[in-house]
Amino acid sequence: MPYDKNNIFAKILRGEIPCKKIFENDHVLSFHDINPQKKIHALVIPKGEYIDLDDFNKKASDKEIAEFHKAVSLVSGLLGASDKGYRVLSNIGSDGGQEVPHLHFHIFAGEKIGKMVI
Ligand code: AMP
Repeated sequence: MPYDKNNIFAKILRGEIPCKKIFENDHVLSFHDINPQKKIHALVIPKGEYIDLDDFNKKASDKEIAEFHKAVSLVSGLLGASDKGYRVLSNIGSDGGQEVPHLHFHIFAGEKIGKMVI
């Protein structure tokens, strides 16, 4: 399946749709989820065109992979979640429940997150 350049996160990256930005560098953008499932619900996305974590791990450069993972800790720190903890989750494909076909990590924080899988 080719990357869909019209997915909502591609539009956010092009500045066609606004977002509540938390952090940005050359490789990564982070913003608040539009429909938060917990008190804090952030998203971290790579700027490159990657459909999901599988696609990213196969095609991204070591620099992109390192920057993406480092951004998770950076963003959780900016959100004040480093001390009490948080959950990182990435849905992959249809069985994984992925809705937006651009790789994203969810960061849930700010309260007890509860069971791993509902
Ligand atoms: P997933 O089901 O893992 O693909 O998650 C997609 C997430 O993107 C959901 O949590 C949505 O609430 C979120 N989302 C969709 N559109 C936007 C948007 N314009 N800004 C921020 N988050 C969004």
